[in-house]
Amino acid sequence: MKLKAIQQTFHEALDAEYDKREVDHFFFMICEYYFNFKRITLALEPDYSISETEAISVLDALESLKQHKPIQYVLKTTEFFGLEFQVNNSVLIPRPETEELVAWIIESDLDKIKKPLRILDIGTGSGCIAISLANKFTNAEVFAVDVSEDAIIVAKQNAEGNKVNVSFIQADILSVDTYKNANFNLPFDIIVSNPPYVRELEKLQMKSNVLNHEPHLALFVEDHDPLKFYKAITKLAKKHLVNDGLLFFEINEFLGNEMVDLLQEHTFTHVELRQDMFKRNRMIKGIKKL
Ligand code: GLN
Repeated sequence: MKLKAIQQTFHEALDAEYDKREVDHFFFMICEYYFNFKRITLALEPDYSISETEAISVLDALESLKQHKPIQYVLKTTEFFGLEFQVNNSVLIPRPETEELVAWIIESDLDKIKKPLRILDIGTGSGCIAISLANKFTNAEVFAVDVSEDAIIVAKQNAEGNKVNVSFIQADILSVDTYKNANFNLPFDIIVSNPPYVRELEKLQMKSNVLNHEPHLALFVEDHDPLKFYKAITKLAKKHLVNDGLLFFEINEFLGNEMVDLLQEHTFTHVELRQDMFKRNRMIKGIKKL
């Protein structure tokens, strides 16, 4: 079957919803994934043909895209901070704003803290934060928690795939038993979390590819207590961070001030809000003082 004809089928099916160039991008990513096809080949050989089995895989992927399945779930993989991560619908697709949070942690003034660093990532999902930090801080001891067993399975595969050592713990951060059972008696130098923060009232603004395909457990909080996870984690951080230890969060862009208040109430100092590349209040950092 001629590849050009399949490309045309992609355009017929998707051009109404996506930019033409994005459709081409999807098409070539899928071709590369299934038969290691390079875009330039089609320019050089416009009559390039693929086998029926290859065509079936590509057209199946098109069906998933038509149902607004994110391309990362279709290809079961994505890139984050220069590393490759496996993803499925039990973990959020790692976001570029979360890469910015990781970059902030890496650039932070960590010299004050004795090495090797002990790091805890709460609500790790695919493991993208914990694994990127473990990859960067090669002497660090990295722990990561998630409530979802399915997420822990994905995260463990990702740690293996990226050849880093992270200790994964399945636990609910809202439950008091977590603190007792999870062997958290060692103090951490850094605690980081990107917990669920999208309010039900914000659902209307979300695109169907997120809403219908990504895990709601990782996204949503009830309108009446949107900082539920942040409160629990800040308390935990107050208890389990070393003096001068750092607390980092990814946050809901509309709740920046509330987050500053929360950290200050818990006596964190040098509390700093940061915007993401879209100029939205997206992350916060605080330093623990005894
Ligand atoms: N930034 C994600 C989104 O907008 C939400 C991540 C989260 O809830 N922690 O879809």
